[in-house]
Amino acid sequence: MNKSPSYQLVSRAYRENRTSINVGGIQIGAGEFVVIAGPCSVESKEQLLLCAEEAKRCGAKVLRGGCFKPRTSPYSFQGLGFQALSYLHEVGKFHSIPVITEVLDAREVSEVSRQVDVVQVGARNMQNTALLKAVGAIDKPVLLKRGMMSSIEELLCAAEYIVTQGNEQVILCERGIRTFETTTRYTLDLSAVPVLKELTHLPIIVDPSHAAGRRSLVPALSCAAKAVGADGLIIEMHPQPDLALSDGAQSLDFMEFERLMLELR
Ligand code: PEP
Ligand code: MN
Repeated sequence: MNKSPSYQLVSRAYRENRTSINVGGIQIGAGEFVVIAGPCSVESKEQLLLCAEEAKRCGAKVLRGGCFKPRTSPYSFQGLGFQALSYLHEVGKFHSIPVITEVLDAREVSEVSRQVDVVQVGARNMQNTALLKAVGAIDKPVLLKRGMMSSIEELLCAAEYIVTQGNEQVILCERGIRTFETTTRYTLDLSAVPVLKELTHLPIIVDPSHAAGRRSLVPALSCAAKAVGADGLIIEMHPQPDLALSDGAQSLDFMEFERLMLELR
């Protein structure tokens, strides 16, 4: 007897045609390669305004900015929380650019989703089923990042949790997995992109920043992601990466970001 499939609605068998997701007027998964860019953490309104201007000028279509940060150490900067969320909302409106941020707590999903165009479920929460169900109940796109220790099947099961609640607007993100390799922060599993294209109709983007952990590697991994058929990228950049409150080592400065955007064309 066949074992029942662990995911169905997100599978390619369920829907032959690729799904494209409308993110504040920008289509992800419709053929155009979409770059999401911005700081790891929102640190001030001024910092975010600079990032938004630079992102737009260079052709990025969505602005990222962490408000609630899932840090490994409780002593590390945890994000400016709802203050950051209001900056993100304001700056997005001011520059007419859709915005994305991560939500950590199922109880905060409705408030966070009200102020952004996409809600992100981070790698550390990919199997938080309460959070998956909560974002499954809203009417906003969800960026679901692969857990650093999760298989592709587990990622698709997590996406299935969201879709079974009624929200079909799911974008998958490969952001590196943990391996024995220590020269990079994680190991970017580029093969996940073509594998996922076979298994699911959902769009898939790549996060080269968290995978690499070092800014020098970000351009090569970005170009590789495009070459293997990703629908886009999510990249960290900062006006002064060395002063960033989180993930400065992997954040591009504005010159590096501009150069990468030109290279990607
Ligand atoms: C992030 O995008 O800022 C982040 C924390 O990513 P991840 O969940 O992939 O570690
Ligand atoms: Mn980060």
